[in-house]
Amino acid sequence: MTVVGVLALQGDVREHLSALRAAGCVAAPVRRVAELAAVDGLVLPGGESTTIDKLARAFGLFEPLRDRIAGGLPVFGSCAGMILLADRLVGATADQETFGGIDITVRRNAFGRQVDSFEQDVEMDGVPGGPVHAVFIRAPWVEEVGPRATLLAKIRTGPEAGRAVAVRQGSLLAVSFHPELTGDGRVHAYFYQMVKEFAA
Ligand code: GLN
Repeated sequence: MTVVGVLALQGDVREHLSALRAAGCVAAPVRRVAELAAVDGLVLPGGESTTIDKLARAFGLFEPLRDRIAGGLPVFGSCAGMILLADRLVGATADQETFGGIDITVRRNAFGRQVDSFEQDVEMDGVPGGPVHAVFIRAPWVEEVGPRATLLAKIRTGPEAGRAVAVRQGSLLAVSFHPELTGDGRVHAYFYQMVKEFAA
C-alpha cells in the first residue's frame, strides 16, 4: 500500500490530508521518525518555515528528513514547504535552515506582508485541464531556478508577472501557493502520480 504523509508539526496539515484523500491517497500525519520511515511520499505544508524548521529539530526529524529526501523520497512542498525544500534562501532568519533538495533560490515573503496576499490563475506544466487557481499567502517566489530544477509555473499578470512559483526536480515538487485551500485536487493528484511512479 502506498502511503503519503503530511509533516504535522505546524501549518495547514488537515487541509493537505483531506486534499490527498480526495485525490485517492492513503494519507497520514507524520510527527515521528517511525512515521516518516513508513511513508512513500511526504507533503510539507504551508505555515511558518522558521517554526517548522525549529520543531523538526526538536522532534529529531531534521536529519532523518534530509536523509530521506537525499534518498529520493517524493516530497511536495507548498509555500513554507517550498522554502524548506530550497537549497538557498533570501530573507531567511539568522539561524534558519532548510532540508534542501531543489536547486533553487527562494525569497521568503517575496510578495509582501500578510495584507499583500492575493489569488491568481496560473498555468502549471504537467497539470492538465486549464489554469490552477492559486492562493498566495505571505508567499515566497523562486528567485533563481538552478540548472537541476525545472520551472513549472509563473505569475501571469500584474506587477510580478514572470515570477517563478512552481518547480520540480526529480521526485521533489514545490509551489509558492496553497492548492489545498481551493478544492481543486489536480496538484495533489499530480504529486500522487509522482509518488506512484517512484514507488514502482
Ligand atoms: N511566510 C511564511 C514563511 O516564511 C510562509 C507562508 C505560508 O506558508 N503561507 O514560512
